[in-house]
Amino acid sequence: MGPESTQLPDHGARPCYLCGAALRPPTNNDHVPLRGLIAPAITQRHNLDRLLTIPVHRACNSAYSRDEEYFLASLIPFSRGSTAGDAIYRKYLDDFAKDTRKAKLMRKVLREFDAAPSGLVIPGKVVKRQDGARISRVVWKIVRGLHFHHHGTIMPDGLNTNVTMTAPGERPPEPFLQVKDLPDDVTHGRYPGIFDYRFRCFDVDEGKLHYWGMLLWDKIIITVAFHDPWTCDCEKCVAALAALPSAA
Ligand SMILES: [Zn+2]
Ligand SMILES: [Zn+2]
Repeated sequence: MGPESTQLPDHGARPCYLCGAALRPPTNNDHVPLRGLIAPAITQRHNLDRLLTIPVHRACNSAYSRDEEYFLASLIPFSRGSTAGDAIYRKYLDDFAKDTRKAKLMRKVLREFDAAPSGLVIPGKVVKRQDGARISRVVWKIVRGLHFHHHGTIMPDGLNTNVTMTAPGERPPEPFLQVKDLPDDVTHGRYPGIFDYRFRCFDVDEGKLHYWGMLLWDKIIITVAFHDPWTCDCEKCVAALAALPSAA
């Protein structure tokens, strides 16, 4: 029981933001967002000493590894045209040449793009439903980590989320453009050329609605919308909150 748990008055110990239970070893530091977004060449050139990490259970963290790999293999082909994007794309080609397991995954992802005429990734729509769910799962992990960082509360895992992805040159969804144009709009990325994000909470009839916008490599826009489970009494929110263990 740590004496430093001042931020979270409801919990006896510091929780793991992924499972909601108290942190117990073995733990490790989760990079939020995932470390794989940053090319080694960028790390070598710049002193990235302000990357956000959050301690979590090691097992909770590694349960995302395969989906994170899939996420990166799906998105990196759209990253070209910015400094951070070009660097990660070069790493992607490098891996393709050297790492058979990664090359296999990349070929699988590339075949999925061939099936999509616009070349656009929309979870659950263009790519196979199941793989869209894998991408959404990684996106939701990032949002949960950032939400925990900003608010100190754990967003339940099982919430219903609406995720969109916009490739470079495509028009982002209307709500994103509206949020971006709000006079008090701010972004929070520590290295915005690699990863930037904004978030808002709006009052709606059913309670509150969270809206997040993320920008990867200055190229790909991801939006996530979801109910605020503490102010909403829809079935999904109630069930998601009930499934959240209290850290003791
Ligand atoms: Zn955990
Ligand atoms: Zn709800």
